[in-house]
This record gives sequence, C-alpha cells and structure tokens, in this order.
Amino acid sequence: MPRQQHSWRLIFRRFLIVMCLAFAWTRVLPAQNQLPKFRVVAIAEKGGIHKPFVDAARVWLQQEAAADGFSIDYIEDTQKIDDKFLSQYQLFIQLNYPPYAWTPTAMAAFEKYIEQGKGGWIGFHHATLLGEFDGYPMWPWFSTFMGGIRFKTYIPDFATGTVHVEDPGHPAMKGLGSSFQIENEEWYTYDKSPRPNVHVLASVDEKSYAPPRSITMGDHPVVWTNENYKARNIYIFMGHHPELFQNSAFTTLFHNSILWAAHQ
Ligand SMILES: [Zn+2]
Repeated sequence: MPRQQHSWRLIFRRFLIVMCLAFAWTRVLPAQNQLPKFRVVAIAEKGGIHKPFVDAARVWLQQEAAADGFSIDYIEDTQKIDDKFLSQYQLFIQLNYPPYAWTPTAMAAFEKYIEQGKGGWIGFHHATLLGEFDGYPMWPWFSTFMGGIRFKTYIPDFATGTVHVEDPGHPAMKGLGSSFQIENEEWYTYDKSPRPNVHVLASVDEKSYAPPRSITMGDHPVVWTNENYKARNIYIFMGHHPELFQNSAFTTLFHNSILWAAHQ
C-alpha cells in the first residue's frame, strides 16, 4: 500500500473519531446546562433538637433535586422573604421552622404567596407549633391555614404508631398502601382536630401507639391539605428524627408532595 494512501486513511479515521466525540459532547452538554424544572426554597430550622432531621433532609433533598431536575436554595431565617424573593420559587418547604418570629414583611409575602397560589408549600412538624412561644404571639392567619388549630402538647418520650391513609387517590399518597408505620415520633396534639377545615390525607391510630401513651386527641390527622387556598399545600406532621429518611413511606410521601405541590 502506498504510504500516501495509508496516511489519508489514518486522517479519515481520526476525523471520524473526532466527529463521534463531538456528537457525544453535544448530547451531554444540554443535560448539564439544562435549566431546573422548578425552583425550591427551604426554610430550615437552625440548630436545636431538630438539627439532625434538618441535616438528613438536606442530604436527601440534594439527591432528589438531582434526580427530579429541580434546584434548591436554603434560608435559615425570614429576613430575605418578600414578594420579589418568593417570586423566584415554585415551592416553599418549611423544614421544621416554626410559624413565629417572622418579620412582618415575610408574613405578608408568605400569606400572599399561599393565597394567590404563586407557589406550593410543604410544611413539616414544627410548622404547627401554633400558640405563644418564646415571647411571640400566635400568627392567626397561619393557624387558619393549618385548619384553625392551636398546638396543645406532644409525646416527649415518643411512640411508634400506625398511620392510616385516608385518601389513597391523592397524588401525595401514591404508593403508600392503606397504612404505614412511623417509629418513635413525638405526635403533637392540638386543641381540636383540623378535619372540619381541611382535607385529611392520613391520620394516626392512637390505639396503635407502642408503648401505649395517655396523651391523645381522638381523631388525629397527621397529613392534610387545605383546599381553601389557591396554593397546593401539604402539612406532614412527622419530622422529629433523622431516621425518617430511612423510612420509605416517609420519603415516598415527601417525594410525591414535592412533585405535586411544585406544579400549580
Ligand atoms: Zn420534634
């Protein structure tokens, strides 16, 4: 074979390889530069007894964000919250942050965001710490949003309980079956059941408490949505221990809730 022909063949082969690589790169590039499908802001309780839960939530949310293609930003107080700040986000997650000691601007912006359905909301555990705490008055609007309840007490030494799914047809409850188990929760009680004012998605069977506990409220909803507001919203009571992120019922509920609430 003449030397000339050999080198031309080599050049052609190299050209083919370069073209293949270039093509592969164009396939990868859009995925890397893709805009997030939606943007989430989470207000995370700083320090305190719920730090391990919040830390575990951050790790889990990072994986979720990558898998489901959304972005997530964190705040640890309400200083930044106003209309403009919230307008960047399709979902607001209240990661164990209580509904008191918010700035007046933050309260007004949040109320507007929920009432006008500018984005969705998922609140956990401490989000129903409604009453007078740490010298702050109760936020009446927030109490109404949560079904007109006031926090009463909790089970400080924890109990494992069976949670019954009441609306298996709701998108947030997909794949949860008819009931699931939650280990070692604090199980808050309120002055009354929010049921008359909200759509209950799941409730805990107080008779299932192991060990049995005397702190009860009878009808005891633990997951609900308030359909009187334009924003897709969901309250999930469970949220004390980081081990919840090893409970597939809890992570399924959280995952479903994100995808449902982020789309108005
Ligand atoms: Zn707690």
